[in-house]
Amino acid sequence: MKTDVAVVGGGLCGALCCWTLQAQGVECVWIRGPGRPTSAVGPGLAVPAPTDHLARVVRGLGVEACLQMWDFGCRGLELLSEVCGQLQVPYSRGVLFLPSNAVEANDLAETEELLRHHGRGIMRAFAGDPSAPSRGGQSLSQARLLESGLSFSPSVLLQALCDVLPAEICIEGSMQPGIGQASGGALLLRLDQGDPVEAEIAIVCAGAASARLVPGLSGWLWPQLGQARIVAGQLPFPAVSANWGHESYQQLEAGRVLAAGFRPDPSPDDRVEEGPPDETFQGFLARFLSLRFGIEGEAEQTLAAALSVTLDNLPLIGPLPGESRLLLATGFCGRGYAFGAAAARALAALIFSGKSTIPRILNPSRLV
Ligand SMILES: Cc1cc2nc3c(=O)[nH]c(=O)nc-3n(C[C@H](O)[C@H](O)[C@H](O)COP(=O)(O)OP(=O)(O)OC[C@H]3O[C@@H](n4cnc5c(N)ncnc54)[C@H](O)[C@@H]3O)c2cc1C
Repeated sequence: MKTDVAVVGGGLCGALCCWTLQAQGVECVWIRGPGRPTSAVGPGLAVPAPTDHLARVVRGLGVEACLQMWDFGCRGLELLSEVCGQLQVPYSRGVLFLPSNAVEANDLAETEELLRHHGRGIMRAFAGDPSAPSRGGQSLSQARLLESGLSFSPSVLLQALCDVLPAEICIEGSMQPGIGQASGGALLLRLDQGDPVEAEIAIVCAGAASARLVPGLSGWLWPQLGQARIVAGQLPFPAVSANWGHESYQQLEAGRVLAAGFRPDPSPDDRVEEGPPDETFQGFLARFLSLRFGIEGEAEQTLAAALSVTLDNLPLIGPLPGESRLLLATGFCGRGYAFGAAAARALAALIFSGKSTIPRILNPSRLV
């Protein structure tokens, strides 16, 4: 099979790449790969920045680079809200951070000060719901709202995209490791079943599996198992997402709450592409729900999926060094909704117009 662009990876990033390419009239095929995408497991908390240790990130990268990253992530949020609107997938603006150790670790006051000092009123104190109960000695009224966040259901959005993308572009196969060259000079992607795909350009957005598919990525990119837990319950305030360290929470429909997260200091056991949910981490999520929201009860569902993590904790978005036709969109380090969408938008624009809008700090050229 011949095509202009092959998109490798059946998660939200791959779906949004196909969506934006199709919207620009670019011919593409979508190689979706095995199993359930990570995108179908996590809560839909999309923020245009790393939320953990934000001040440390700002100090480490410099304010200018952070603002570029912020603007880039915001373009991802715009795409998400645009697509959610068109496909009638509910979404809302605003992400609630709970006043916990995360706020201390995040140095929110310092981050706010840094960003305000540099001309952006990105964060704003949020009064919270005064009637909300105080748990663990901390009042929810101390919560803060990160205005630019977006909350949605990634599994619902992914399904909606799968439903509207033309069936004839979808290939239910898996790309095999390594990329060859076809006789006409195009990239040759071999699949585990059926004919290989010959493409002028390939976008590899296969999450953590990208490290196995593309030479040179191992050592830079690895999987980390995240977990989720769904229980019956109602969050005690109208906001839909909250964060406590590395955990996120979301009110689902029909009186269910989803809690999810990953270990800040992962053990080697977490560096796997798939695995079952484990009792220790599930116990942590259960305790948090109980302490913070008073939500008790058995899990209706427990889930585990691998997110992709990079050596410098920043996504890899753009051409692979030495092979400009091979574009990467991976290593989102738990922030794949904003940055995966931003990557889809930027890569489609790069293919369409040849112009790059990707911040240099995210460029895979740093691999060499
Ligand atoms: C518990 C948990 C909570 C999370 N919470 C958040 C959050 O609040 N906010 C946020 O932004 N992010 C969160 N994330 C991370 C987010 O889910 C990911 O960043 C995002 O899903 C990445 O999407 P993706 O499309 O890049 O990859 P994925 O959704 O992982 O999709 C990768 C795709 O590649 C396919 N694939 C694999 N191998 C091959 C192959 N050989 N050939 C072809 N295809 C292949 C897979 O089948 C899959 O379809 C969370 C993750 C987890 C696990």
